[in-house]
Amino acid sequence: MSNIHAYATTAANAALAPFEITRREPGSHDVQIEILYCGVCHSDIHQARNEWGNSIYPMVPGHEIVGRVTAVGDHVKKFKVGDMAGVGCLIDSCRTCPQCAAGDEQFCENGSTGTYNGIDKNGEITYGGYSKQIVVDENFTLLIPANLDIKAVAPLLCAGITTYSPLRRWKVGPGQKVAIVGLGGLGHMAVKLAAAFGAEVTVLSTSDNKEVDAKRLGAHHFVNSRNAEKMKSLAGHFDFILNTVSAKNDYNALLGLLHTNGSMVLVGAPAEPSQISGFSLIMGRRSIAGSLIGGLAETQEMLDFCGKHNITSDVEMISIDKINEAYERILNADVKYRFVIDMASL
Ligand code: NAP
Ligand code: ZN
Ligand code: ZN
Repeated sequence: MSNIHAYATTAANAALAPFEITRREPGSHDVQIEILYCGVCHSDIHQARNEWGNSIYPMVPGHEIVGRVTAVGDHVKKFKVGDMAGVGCLIDSCRTCPQCAAGDEQFCENGSTGTYNGIDKNGEITYGGYSKQIVVDENFTLLIPANLDIKAVAPLLCAGITTYSPLRRWKVGPGQKVAIVGLGGLGHMAVKLAAAFGAEVTVLSTSDNKEVDAKRLGAHHFVNSRNAEKMKSLAGHFDFILNTVSAKNDYNALLGLLHTNGSMVLVGAPAEPSQISGFSLIMGRRSIAGSLIGGLAETQEMLDFCGKHNITSDVEMISIDKINEAYERILNADVKYRFVIDMASL
């Protein structure tokens, strides 16, 4: 066991503060990683504040982890000491159920283990990336493309895979009109990826000051979703909508923007439920669906795609002592477009 510096919260209404945790010594299939960078996901805030009602304290958030391998177990094949490695939202699953066998470890029928706010097989609370070091089974550890800036790779481990997976599953590509709702951490990755897949991309945002950035990131159009006239002119316009909004929003209004047979996929996970009128779906045979991160193989596929196409996140670096301020800025939709903690500051 080693003692590791971390930042934790101890209650839904407490600020994050310095905290000590212990990590196991690497077992034969484990990789020990010195964490260099960790992205800050809106899910960290939902969980730190128990907005989803499933929080376990003390909580060390962080599931967009990139670092350097400092030790490996005897059976580890993928990594050697000195390599860069990534860890996303999952650190374990049963590995044998039909979901795990199909590469959907996030839907493991026996319960996958979250990188933090989870219970490990040994019965202990899992602690995430707002810490100096983590020990993870190599099967839940990702290879990082050598050509990418690793600070800007960290957000791919959640924001990247969460947007890549539904864009791939719904076969977004050339000839399709796609809307990305909300230009935050997930939204800006969705814009980059949907544009790389060849779709015509529109950002629907509540922040007029993000228009120039939206176009720089690859969007072809930008519409303020609070402009009723403009929204009306988009009725029936889109083949696919990816909704990344973190707070309660009007699903019926967005479904009305879909063309016949169009789909809206929710990745944003607001705590409060929204009502959906049956007519929003019946008219135009529209669908609404949801998507949760992605499995390990698909996460590696996404990282390799990003390496090939030179895609990373637009990041604002912070030191760990600025984490509570960063949370407030995220809640004010004031992040361009992902905060990443430089763990040297811990
Ligand atoms: P984020 O950086 O805070 O981005 C969310 C964006 O939504 C904001 O920047 C803002 O964009 C827009 N927004 C915020 N409040 C709004 C409101 N009241 N009405 C309309 N638009 C609003 O958050 P994130 O890290 O991208 O995460 C987004 C959501 O996805 C969170 O709920 C998170 O928990 C969830 N999530 C889900 C998964 C999954 O597997 N499904 C994975 C990761 C995260 P504009 O300024 O452009 O309007
Ligand atoms: Zn996340
Ligand atoms: Zn399983």
